[in-house]
Amino acid sequence: ENSLDAKASAITVSILDGGIREIRVTDNGEGIAEEDMPLTILKHATSKIYKLQDLDRIYSMGFRGEALASIAAVSMLSIKSRVRESEAGTELCAKGGKIEHIRQAGLPEGTSVIVENLFYNTPARLKFLKKPGSEAAAISDIVSRLILARPDISLRYTANGKSIYHSPGSGELLDAICAVNGQQMRSQLIPVDYQINQIHVFGYIGAPDFTYKTQKNGSLFINQRYIRSDVIQTAILRAYGERLLRGSFPFYTLHLNMIPS
Ligand code: ADP
Ligand code: MG
Repeated sequence: ENSLDAKASAITVSILDGGIREIRVTDNGEGIAEEDMPLTILKHATSKIYKLQDLDRIYSMGFRGEALASIAAVSMLSIKSRVRESEAGTELCAKGGKIEHIRQAGLPEGTSVIVENLFYNTPARLKFLKKPGSEAAAISDIVSRLILARPDISLRYTANGKSIYHSPGSGELLDAICAVNGQQMRSQLIPVDYQINQIHVFGYIGAPDFTYKTQKNGSLFINQRYIRSDVIQTAILRAYGERLLRGSFPFYTLHLNMIPS
């Protein structure tokens, strides 16, 4: 999400052992300036809110400045980044929330965040993690939703070196859906595009005879943020009405765009 906020057009996510050993996110976004680097892992430090009124029109994914601070506190974290205008980049290394060093480094434009040994200093929380396979599945789920949220961005995701998803970033939602669910989806789906007042609903839905036994294949996005809503889930099921067999759930990827306030 930070990579999206940094206007990256290409993002790579790779994990080892369900992310417990390592999570690495690399982007080609705006980068972090040297003087801002020490602030990234401070609690409540964000570059995304300037004034109180900004809270009524949030277009960024983050705005609370909490993610990196809390991740840093429970891992070995390094952030490597270079802004376009700068010749050299900056590298921050932190352990358990304490900065070990910040130094200049030759780096490509953009940012890499590397989280290693998650919860190494909080064994009780480490114990509550699921098996690497289950954690990897949870991460895959999140990444797949990010791909569907942002078809305009090329996302590459690997787990233990194996390629799981690679979206083209073409801007076409159908391409993103195929990157997640397979190319066979291309001929299976019905486009949706509807505008009412200032609300735009668009995306793709499966035909009533193309269903699943779980609700997992429905994804809803409001202003490109993945949302789960019982109200909307019920509305969608009701729209299918009797065409849907009991206990079967449709495929849908729907975007709802509206003014943030
Ligand atoms: P938030 O996203 O709510 O601002 P985070 O803790 O996720 O808080 O990140 C803190 C700050 O670090 C961000 O506000 C941003 O300025 C900077 N940052 C983090 N990741 C990136 C990135 N990939 N590219 C550019 N800046 C980043
Ligand atoms: Mg963030």
